[in-house]
Amino acid sequence: MKVLNLCCSSDHRFEGWFASEDDYRSQIERDLIECPMCGDKTVHRLPTAPHVLTSSSRAVSVPHPMKERPAQPRPGTVGEATASRPSTTEGPIDQLTLQSAWLCAVQHVINHTDDVGSRFAEEARRMHYGEADERPIRGQATSDEARALHEEGIEVMALPMPAALKGPVQ
Ligand SMILES: [Zn+2]
Repeated sequence: MKVLNLCCSSDHRFEGWFASEDDYRSQIERDLIECPMCGDKTVHRLPTAPHVLTSSSRAVSVPHPMKERPAQPRPGTVGEATASRPSTTEGPIDQLTLQSAWLCAVQHVINHTDDVGSRFAEEARRMHYGEADERPIRGQATSDEARALHEEGIEVMALPMPAALKGPVQ
């Protein structure tokens, strides 16, 4: 999979996904590539930008996973980095960027979930078994509760909360 940065004659920039360099060339020769913003078929290629950075910022702002991921020697996004290895960053993402991306992601979770506090396990279970409507929730669970949920096939995500963003003490 090859991701190329493309640009139309009106200077709209977009990404094109191709099976290979040859695939890109054959599509451009047959005028198959057009600008998603204006439909212009005069498309040219921009120098390749550091792709890790663009896909990272997208991973943070758009929560759904990307459909296809280009083969990269060291795949890594901010999303994964914050979840699994917060202190070992590579490439152009510095610690500060990572920190603010993480805060932004946490804030997003807080804004889009109901705080059910210590009833988290109970609520998650009720939704799983159809006793309550599905909705995004957040709250606290003991490690025993979290393990029990996992064993019942209920997906939960652990998200360390920065103290500054914690809600009012219950
Ligand atoms: Zn355009």
